[in-house]
Amino acid sequence: MSNQDWLNRSLAAVWHPCTQMKLHETGALPLVPVARGQGPWLYDFEGRRYLDAISSWWVNLFGHANPRLNAAIKAQLDQLEHVILAGFTHAPVVELSERLSALTGGALGHCFYASDGSSAVEIALKMSFHSWRNHDRPEKNRFLCLAGSYHGETLGTLSVSDVALYKEVYAPLLRQAVPVLSPDARQAAAGETAADCARRAAAALEAVLAAQHETIAALIVEPLVQGAGGMIMYDPEYLRLARGLCDRYQVHLIADEIMVGFGRTGTLFAHEQAGIRPDFLCLSKGLTGGYLPLSVVLTTDEVYAAFHDDAITRGFLHSHSYTGNPLACRVALATLDIFVEDAVLERNRRFGERLTARLVPLANHPQARHFRRRGMIWAVDIATDDPDFRLRFYRAALQRELLLRPLGTTVYFMPPYILNDEETALLADGAAAALDAALA
Ligand SMILES: *Cc1c(COP(=O)(O)O)cnc(C)c1O
Repeated sequence: MSNQDWLNRSLAAVWHPCTQMKLHETGALPLVPVARGQGPWLYDFEGRRYLDAISSWWVNLFGHANPRLNAAIKAQLDQLEHVILAGFTHAPVVELSERLSALTGGALGHCFYASDGSSAVEIALKMSFHSWRNHDRPEKNRFLCLAGSYHGETLGTLSVSDVALYKEVYAPLLRQAVPVLSPDARQAAAGETAADCARRAAAALEAVLAAQHETIAALIVEPLVQGAGGMIMYDPEYLRLARGLCDRYQVHLIADEIMVGFGRTGTLFAHEQAGIRPDFLCLSKGLTGGYLPLSVVLTTDEVYAAFHDDAITRGFLHSHSYTGNPLACRVALATLDIFVEDAVLERNRRFGERLTARLVPLANHPQARHFRRRGMIWAVDIATDDPDFRLRFYRAALQRELLLRPLGTTVYFMPPYILNDEETALLADGAAAALDAALA
């Protein structure tokens, strides 16, 4: 079968995500059939290759067809592929829960599982509300989110998101959360630092909390980097101040680390950089190294205790069919092993400096604005009025063997943690050339 055969069959039968399908049919947005993956490379059916510089939508950490992750899944497959997690338990889910909890210093002692990021956010929202209700405070049933936030695509998660492109159409279906000022470091006036932006946003948060805390269950944030909103980066000071305010006003802090967890921002979890712990931690994406759909919400023993009761309805009666899938938990454990065995955070620090140095020409492009980096995420805004910039850049990158999908006019890089020098050079040089081509 050729590329064209798969392409035709896909367009006839598959409704692709986050896509105006007509763009595929007209060819404005090429559809790429993938035959296999190896390391950071994706190969089509005719031998063309693409460097997966966005980690297949922010999930892949250690490359495709990673031998260690493959072996972990194969071994688990012969033991137990799946079992109901209500009333039953199994080794991979117990071991993973113990390890994740230990990685929060034991602060978050219980793990509740689902299959995707949006479901994890839904769980955190429901748990927060329900725990206040169990404390006889049912009026605490609203949420705060950051301007420009993204927490998923389901109705509950769109309610706490603030990206118009994804949510505007569905606004009549939503119970809107209150968006508060983002600590976006790009807001810094001349002479101001990112920490100044953080303090200003925290002051705005305090004003909202002071007036409304009695009806607010939780503040939900994407720690340090607001991803789908345009790779908005901010100072850890905001998280430190927000933690203090949440404590003072009795509001939960939900950290959605679905994108930023597992080393993306330089530390294993992004909130560590603020020296705080959230009340709820949502993880997915890199959790399984990008292999299988799995998500988890970690929470404190205190929240857990609020559900511990003789009344069944004071328990958390939420479930998904594939909750705690053993294959997914096993590959998550193997992913955590790689972090330890390969001292990945250390290695990423050295890699990060190399790629940053390579990106200087792109950062200095006359139409580049606010080049920024946090750990293993790089982003730059492109000053252009061209409404088709995103598509032009995407096509120009593919022609240079690069998978890069700008968010509007923001070009970003989120590579897997395994690029060699040659791949790093190809990424940096190819992106700069693609930018010139897209703007030409
Ligand atoms: C991707 C993402 C989600 C949603 O996860 P899905 O698995 O796509 O449902 C939620 N929050 C953040 C910050 C994300 O980046």
